[in-house]
Amino acid sequence: FGKVRKDARKGNIAGMETGTTGTLYIVSAASGAGKTSLLRALMARDDRLCFSVSHTTRQPRPGERDGHDYYFVDDAGFQALVEADAFLEHARVFDRRYGTSWAAIEADLAAGRDVLVEIDWQGARQIRERIPGCASVFILPPSRSALEARLRARGQDSDDVIESRMAAAVSEMSHCHEYDFIVWNDDFAVALADLEAIIRAKRLQAGYQLSVHAEALSALTGLDKPPV
Ligand code: 5GP
Repeated sequence: FGKVRKDARKGNIAGMETGTTGTLYIVSAASGAGKTSLLRALMARDDRLCFSVSHTTRQPRPGERDGHDYYFVDDAGFQALVEADAFLEHARVFDRRYGTSWAAIEADLAAGRDVLVEIDWQGARQIRERIPGCASVFILPPSRSALEARLRARGQDSDDVIESRMAAAVSEMSHCHEYDFIVWNDDFAVALADLEAIIRAKRLQAGYQLSVHAEALSALTGLDKPPV
């Protein structure tokens, strides 16, 4: 763990230099943009993708399970993890703390699996600095009115609550230009196909191909070891 982590601080999770790891995908969106359903559908169609489980200090919602949806910890537990340098990134969102631990991602990445982290823009910034090979995607709703309609459809929230959710959403969306890709979630099937296209393009990148198909490439090119 120590060695992998040390390398990762320089931007290399075990083997990232040689391109033998999976890709880390950061996905952010304003709540109400449909991110969760899209990511569920994406995971169901792609068994090389896995999901990172974050830590949070917020209370579990009905139906959420510890270790599955989040690792639910108290403030002291979270702070102890921060001090132990256990987080790849962490941030305060809606006055609660959230973080992605190294442990949540490194084994899957090192085994060549692609990992999705569903986090806010502050965490995305930290990961981009630490893992330059990551890809980041922002999912947007088609319009403010569509977003508001989706937030209202969720339950019996008062106008005040809806207004503050909208303000939080607009503030999150104001960071979308920091991401590598923007996906519009107007039509679910199109947005899903767009996410799949991003992943497919990443897997077709020469650096990735050179490591995954090293033998076939050497047979074709005559090079013992393709230049990376
Ligand atoms: P929720 O509490 O509704 O599950 O998530 C609230 C917000 O926290 C969402 O915008 C989500 O993307 C963000 N979030 C969830 N996990 C993490 C994490 O590990 N790190 C960061 N920076 N944000 C997170």
